[in-house]
Amino acid sequence: MPIADLIIENAAQIIRFEWRGNEPGTVMGWDFQILENSAVAVQAGRTAAVGNQAEIHRDWFRQGITEIVDARRKIVLPGFVDSHTHPVFMNTREQEFESRLQGKTYEEIAALGGGIRSSIRGVREASKEELLERVLRRMDRFIELGTTTVEAKSGYGLSFEAEIKSLEVLRDANEAHPITIVPTFLGAHEVPDEYRRRREDYIRLLTDVMIPAAAGQKLAEYCDVYCEQGVYSAAETRKICAAAREAGLGLKIHADQFHAAGCTELAAELGAVSVDHLEQVTEEGVERLRHSGSVATLLPGSVFFIGSDSYPPARKLIEAGVPVALATDFNPGSSMTQSMPLMTTFAGIFMKMTPAEAIVASTIQGAKALRRENEIGNISKGYRADMVIFDAGNYQMIPYYFGGNLVSSVIKNGKIVNRRS
Ligand SMILES: [Zn+2]
Repeated sequence: MPIADLIIENAAQIIRFEWRGNEPGTVMGWDFQILENSAVAVQAGRTAAVGNQAEIHRDWFRQGITEIVDARRKIVLPGFVDSHTHPVFMNTREQEFESRLQGKTYEEIAALGGGIRSSIRGVREASKEELLERVLRRMDRFIELGTTTVEAKSGYGLSFEAEIKSLEVLRDANEAHPITIVPTFLGAHEVPDEYRRRREDYIRLLTDVMIPAAAGQKLAEYCDVYCEQGVYSAAETRKICAAAREAGLGLKIHADQFHAAGCTELAAELGAVSVDHLEQVTEEGVERLRHSGSVATLLPGSVFFIGSDSYPPARKLIEAGVPVALATDFNPGSSMTQSMPLMTTFAGIFMKMTPAEAIVASTIQGAKALRRENEIGNISKGYRADMVIFDAGNYQMIPYYFGGNLVSSVIKNGKIVNRRS
């Protein structure tokens, strides 16, 4: 008989999902299951069994081998999958935040050397070690808040050296830290100042040099483009994506954040694994998405923090059958938060998503946005044992209790990586 390394028992609720596709009563196709009197057995980093507590204990427990985690009066969820973050930067930008509160515009702040320019300067000047140290500390914060997998983008380097350095930092952080980091190349985050008058040259640098290098050295799994009026047009995005695809990278696209510029339609046409932002998505864009298989990744933290009320139309997307994920968009300019629980609150208040939808969108749908829905984001036999135990009696507490942290323990690859007394 197999023996578990770890058993989680006595939980008030274990939340898990079962794919049901088009059946009515599902949460975006997932049967949202709330298990009571149940336990989870973990073996060799994977979930070995989930179900009736007495049976799990009888079949999987051996004295002296199996560690018991008592989740009495607590709930167990899959670890959060934050599928859109920008964690590779040096300094935070709180002074700029204060200036903004005092009424300075983004243009005025940029003219004073703030904005994305200050982050680019920071990354270019930093050593790899300095950057790595910052990124590792940020990964600690993600774990403390219950996130066990993050997608992480480069994009504050915007030169060959600084972009490759950013991706190497992500690789090294992934090796050194228990969290899983999925790296994305975002050299097309902006056009750097030195290329302003010859942007075609920068696009050529992206397509002919940077993308092949990032893919060739296996430093990135995805390529992302900031497709937006005044940044990269849909036509330029198409060019960059063609090079990314040719190099074997998956596609993710920042689309329709401030303007509907045809980016969602393009992303759907190109079969992007996710289309992110969508604050300004049109009816036509929603229609294209529903047939594309792309995940719509919504980022309410950045809408909130820039003080806008243009939240993406989550209900319309869900009702159209588009798979919706939630992510933090963690970045020093427009979303200085690493909290997925807070995103579930915003999803409820501003986008009218139910607590169950928000939890599905933060776990298994985030996994789908990274093409890992058979590996992470669920508590199911064979899945990676990434779980979070919350000091809460039911799952509705997650969006309800905002601004605090209910995480009690985090289990990553079957090991407890953070436990509060
Ligand atoms: Zn972003």
